[in-house]
Amino acid sequence: MQFLQNVSLNSKTTLQMCSNAAWYCEAHSAEDVVEAVMFAREHKLPILVLGGGSNLVLSSDIEGLVLANCVLGRELSEKRVRLGAGENWHDFVSHATRQGIGGFENLALIPGNAGAAPMQNIGAYGLELQDRFISLEAIDLESGERVIFDRSDCGFDYRESLFKQERRWCITAIDLEPSEEIRASYPGVRSWLESHELEATHESIFGAVCEIRTDKLPDVVSHPNAGSFFKNPVVPLTVSEALQKSYPDLPSFPDAAGVKLSAAWLIDQAGLKGAAEGGFSVSEQHALVITHDGSSRFSELHRLVDRIRTRVLERFGVALEVEPTIYPG
Ligand code: FAD
Ligand code: NAP
Repeated sequence: MQFLQNVSLNSKTTLQMCSNAAWYCEAHSAEDVVEAVMFAREHKLPILVLGGGSNLVLSSDIEGLVLANCVLGRELSEKRVRLGAGENWHDFVSHATRQGIGGFENLALIPGNAGAAPMQNIGAYGLELQDRFISLEAIDLESGERVIFDRSDCGFDYRESLFKQERRWCITAIDLEPSEEIRASYPGVRSWLESHELEATHESIFGAVCEIRTDKLPDVVSHPNAGSFFKNPVVPLTVSEALQKSYPDLPSFPDAAGVKLSAAWLIDQAGLKGAAEGGFSVSEQHALVITHDGSSRFSELHRLVDRIRTRVLERFGVALEVEPTIYPG
């Protein structure tokens, strides 16, 4: 494996942040990952694992080693799916659905690679990765040892996991369980199927999710972005009831930890759609998305994020938490 110096990362994240990596390598196997760990240890370099770059905000140049995870491999059966971490997530979902292997269709069109899916327990349209997860293989970035994690080891939560908290492992493969279950209760999916007079099947849900997402979200190529920039906040029931009195239209959903509120609604109602700092703007199409014209630095993004969080806190008393990884943090 080659270790390259001073490599531009400008086109390696979907938010298109300008950044250079002091060191960069591409790992095509678990053995390559171990070699990268040994190289980083020898040169005393911190490691940043890079997948598709769709949930990553590079806040400056990277002094350490960027390890691009390109470990491929796709094994599909009706009982079990094994994916190399570098496999594109949506290509897998699309291929599986066409092969009649269901249970993943609600997660169609989520950008990025399979290896990053457990990082924030990706979720959309009523399904989360943890609902189909069996186990994963990873390399410990400190010792180079291979480790297996079962579902109960992963600390999965709403857009959270042990891996997002600790960033100590490079995931090399994930194992998932297909399912016959059809999840069509999410309002947007249900109404799309009704309006198209379609039965809920794995294929029709795949089609619904792809069309809804394409219509609703800004395109990452023409409008570089990192998806939802904030998590939907979960607040205690008393807080949600008080807010509902003043704002009866505020979308809210029961959650195991309280009540989940729509962050997009809060940002929109705070008058922030279109708000901008430098080349970063709150998307007019979707208030949870911050787009970038490719020209600006992290300081401007930081100012915009601060403005959004402060305004939402002042207006609604709700603290918004950033969803993507900011590195260096
Ligand atoms: P990266 O952006 O490359 O990395 C993200 C984080 O994971 C970083 O901290 C990185 O160091 C770490 N990482 C990456 N790969 C590995 C690995 N193999 N081992 C260890 N650490 C690793 N997310 C959702 O949950 N639901 C959605 O519906 C959704 N929609 C999106 C729509 C758009 C338009 C965009 C741009 C993003 C969306 N996202 C969504 C966020 C993003 O697509 C997911 O979080 C995705 O899983 C990130 O994958 P990636 O390969 O691009 O990860
Ligand atoms: P939406 O349908 O307009 O709904 C707004 C929010 O309300 C969603 O984020 C969703 O929370 C929540 N919600 C709606 N109906 C719900 C229900 N029946 N039960 C529980 N929660 C409900 O959302 P959207 O912005 O167009 O996104 C659609 C889906 O794609 C969502 O699941 C969203 O998370 C996902 N998505 C994620 C990203 C990302 O980068 N993370 C980007 C784009 C889309 P949840 O987010 O918990 O589902």
